[in-house]
Amino acid sequence: MSSVDIVGNLAAVRQQIAAAAEAAERDPRTVRLVAVTKTVGPDAVRQAWAAGHGDFGENQVQELVRKAGALPAACAWHLIGHLQGNKARAAIATAACLHAVDSAELLDRLERLAATAPRRPTILLQINISGEPSKSGVSPAQASDLLRAALRCEHLSCRGLMTMAPFAASAPEQQQIFGGLRRLRDRLQDDSGVALPELSMGMSRDFRIAIQEGATLVRIGAAIFGRRAD
Ligand SMILES: *Cc1c(COP(=O)(O)O)cnc(C)c1O
Repeated sequence: MSSVDIVGNLAAVRQQIAAAAEAAERDPRTVRLVAVTKTVGPDAVRQAWAAGHGDFGENQVQELVRKAGALPAACAWHLIGHLQGNKARAAIATAACLHAVDSAELLDRLERLAATAPRRPTILLQINISGEPSKSGVSPAQASDLLRAALRCEHLSCRGLMTMAPFAASAPEQQQIFGGLRRLRDRLQDDSGVALPELSMGMSRDFRIAIQEGATLVRIGAAIFGRRAD
């Protein structure tokens, strides 16, 4: 038995999201919570679903497929981790949104698969703003080429950008990184003339600053489901 109060945590996180949005003079409804279920079992996810939560995130395709199969079909699943080409078919079939698209090769593959998929998948381009070598994502300098490739894919709906801050980043560094993603988005939007409304940024440790800098999707696991052993 888990002693984690998932429903209570979910309510507290929602309240903290709303407070952060209001402090930034934003409408709290413009920030969507993706509850990150990696390492937690389907029962825990079901508790969040029963409490009215419908958006869930996994960083591995296999886990995403497994949990999606154990939960009601009305749940929206977000693939938040790096996607390998050989898992693209399963990802397209199951996930409503792919947050970490980071290469033209992957785009080509997704576009081919999406042509026969039941719905047009939403994708976000992962950008490595911090330059941390262990993070995936393209550099800001490569972002406009990747966006151009994404916009050529008529079966994919490219809606914005995603980034992660390094684990050890200070608050000012987090602000720099998340603000950097927003400014890059603004520039890409101006240059392309295409709306990129979504900014997927912020985790348990840094979502308040991400919201202050414009996050529209926050990906939160530990603050809801409890600390992981990893
Ligand atoms: C695990 C993970 C999260 C959530 O992190 P928490 O610290 O549990 O909130 C967010 N985004 C990605 C890409 C992750 O892998």
